Amino acid sequence: MNKFAASDEDLESGKVHVPDDVQDAIRTLIAWSGDDPAREGLLDTPKRVARAWKEYCQGYQEDPAVHLSRVFEEVGGYEEIVLLKDIPFQSHCEHHMAPIIGKAAIAYLPTNRVVGISKLARVLHGYARRLQIQERLTAEVAECIWEHLEPRGVAVVIDASHACMTARGVRTPGVGMVTSRMMGTFLEDQRSRKEVLSLMGY
Ligand SMILES: [Zn+2]
Repeated sequence: MNKFAASDEDLESGKVHVPDDVQDAIRTLIAWSGDDPAREGLLDTPKRVARAWKEYCQGYQEDPAVHLSRVFEEVGGYEEIVLLKDIPFQSHCEHHMAPIIGKAAIAYLPTNRVVGISKLARVLHGYARRLQIQERLTAEVAECIWEHLEPRGVAVVIDASHACMTARGVRTPGVGMVTSRMMGTFLEDQRSRKEVLSLMGY
């Protein structure tokens, strides 16, 4: 927990206290951008921006592995691919603090335990709600599942667009970046990898 910890409830009710130095920093940024932080429409902006950032980065306040702590060990002999795909997510790039918006597909090959399927999305969001690079986000999700579910294989594919590319810099809207992390059977066995990628729609 960091010293600026805030709960989801506090954030939703807009009650999170924003220290003066944080507000000053945002006023400085507004002035740097070319506007007047003292004009009426911008008066409450520093507080709003600060609270929004607290929410974007809520992942710092959790260990995503907690979502994998409740497992079901009765799997009825099911040993095939478990896949959750088209999971929408939002993150922010650590280089520009600009939005990364995309979708993820997460699959694993269970041994003797499975989790509630929504938990895979929670693990994703736990890592996405931080300052990230897409490569690390992909790896962190895969490794968390690998370590805590001890499956035979994990496959994570993330397809996202980066506002730092689409809204600035080379300004290329519509460009998506795809990253993948394969572990265990999906890494070692080409047929399994092909199967999971085709189930994911790649
Ligand atoms: Zn960036």
